[in-house]
Amino acid sequence: PARKIEGIRLAKVIKAEIALEVARRVADGKHPPGLAAVLVGENPASQVYVRNKRKACEEAGLNSWLHHLPADTTQEELLKLVHTLNQDPKVNGILVQLPLPKHIDEETILRAVTPLKDVDSFHPENVGLLMTGHPRFMPCTPFGVLQMLKRSDIETAGKRVVILGRSNIVGKPLALMMMQKPSDANPHAGDATVTVAHRGTKHLKEICQQAEILIAAIGVPNFVTAQMVQPGAVVIDVGINSVNGKLCGDVDPEVGEVAAALSPVPGGVGPMTIAMLLQNTLKAATIHQT
Ligand code: NAD
Repeated sequence: PARKIEGIRLAKVIKAEIALEVARRVADGKHPPGLAAVLVGENPASQVYVRNKRKACEEAGLNSWLHHLPADTTQEELLKLVHTLNQDPKVNGILVQLPLPKHIDEETILRAVTPLKDVDSFHPENVGLLMTGHPRFMPCTPFGVLQMLKRSDIETAGKRVVILGRSNIVGKPLALMMMQKPSDANPHAGDATVTVAHRGTKHLKEICQQAEILIAAIGVPNFVTAQMVQPGAVVIDVGINSVNGKLCGDVDPEVGEVAAALSPVPGGVGPMTIAMLLQNTLKAATIHQT
């Protein structure tokens, strides 16, 4: 059976490293790094995500603030809050929890966050920096996946990596980070040979079978079956799906019978994503100081 890649345990190690660095900064007389979370409306999943992110901040000694606005908040009002947070020197990172209510244009809001506090790395300036191999922040979920592999001693360089999903939040930036050449400016790059598959892909099963590292980020419960996986492959499950009130990933647990290693859901990529959010907030605090 596959080795379990325990994101939850790796995330604890990363959070402890961050806590140490934060304590060092505070001992030097600096403010603790601070993350402002903005939540609009009452989406239950979003409320859980934001609560977990804030809890992790507190555990690592970062400040966190929640701005919970009602569902009927106007775009103008939300923009005003973002501008206030952009100006606030105690706020190093700004997180606008998606999805936003339909009457608000997400793109407009994400562009309003100053790129220097854009710890999710959704602003086009930061996307461009990542694209050209000079990342300022790396988007949290792809960064978490790379760290998960690295800290499990799984080599990516030269490997055939197949990514299922092409979203701006997960699949697309992950593909970039996986394919790029590592450098001083971009030390976490994967140096892998990357294939991206998506809703329009033909022969998806055959493509998956070629993967030495298979990463599923599509949001379809148990989509990846054992027949799609090459024996000995490493499989990372980014999916978070709720089936009859139970959490499950995009990978069928039977894959554990053929894969060499598999990340669980829950307790896999989710906690890594949060750890990388803290990492980015700490980095933002360092940037602001200079
Ligand atoms: P999305 O809906 O924006 O994108 C899904 C992608 O999967 C699309 O590119 C689509 O082409 C592809 N896809 C969908 N169905 C497919 C199919 N049948 N065959 C092939 N490709 C298919 O989703 P997203 O935001 O990228 O999230 C993907 C999953 O990851 C979701 O379950 C989400 O909840 C989860 N997620 C987890 C974390 C985390 O921290 N673990 C973070 C973000 C998203």
